[in-house]
Amino acid sequence: MTTAYIGIGSNLGDRLQNCRKALKLLEQRGVRIRVKNVSGAYETKPWGPETADQPDFINMAAAVETDIGPRALLEILLRIENEMGRVRTKKWGPRTIDLDILLYGDEVVDLQGGSRLPALKVPHPLMHKREFVLLPLAEIAPGAVHPVLKKTVKQLLEELATQT
Ligand code: ADP
Ligand code: MG
Repeated sequence: MTTAYIGIGSNLGDRLQNCRKALKLLEQRGVRIRVKNVSGAYETKPWGPETADQPDFINMAAAVETDIGPRALLEILLRIENEMGRVRTKKWGPRTIDLDILLYGDEVVDLQGGSRLPALKVPHPLMHKREFVLLPLAEIAPGAVHPVLKKTVKQLLEELATQT
């Protein structure tokens, strides 16, 4: 079994309800994914270009225990996003639900996307730069280690705080 951390975000509709529903759907995929811990909800400003007039996000993080691999896990997350009616308009556009794999044990994954396969990078390439990812994650997993940067989530959050 591997412990993976999932980032959850929503800035359209009933944002908190959307995050909770996504977790429920994730757990309903069966015994091979168990939600072990969930952070509180954090309200955050949208991040990145093209976000100036977007509504604020609700962000959460969850620890899951699973024996399915990272690619299969990603496919499940993308399917839940689709089921919940996420429409991909533009990169970083507003979304009813965003589910990202932040960490998957201590594995480093870099898979190119193909015509049918989605791309996957784990740890999530921007997680250490995003307070809205690190804050909820630090609540449930301050000691989890980033396998590339070799730092704990708590350290990454502290570094980010001193940079800005
Ligand atoms: P973002 O979450 O960066 O705002 P999207 O949710 O639109 O953007 O990302 C879309 C694609 O990112 C997905 O189709 C997936 O193939 C790819 N991706 C790469 N690495 C990851 C990861 N660790 N978790 C989730 N999606 C990822
Ligand atoms: Mg995403």
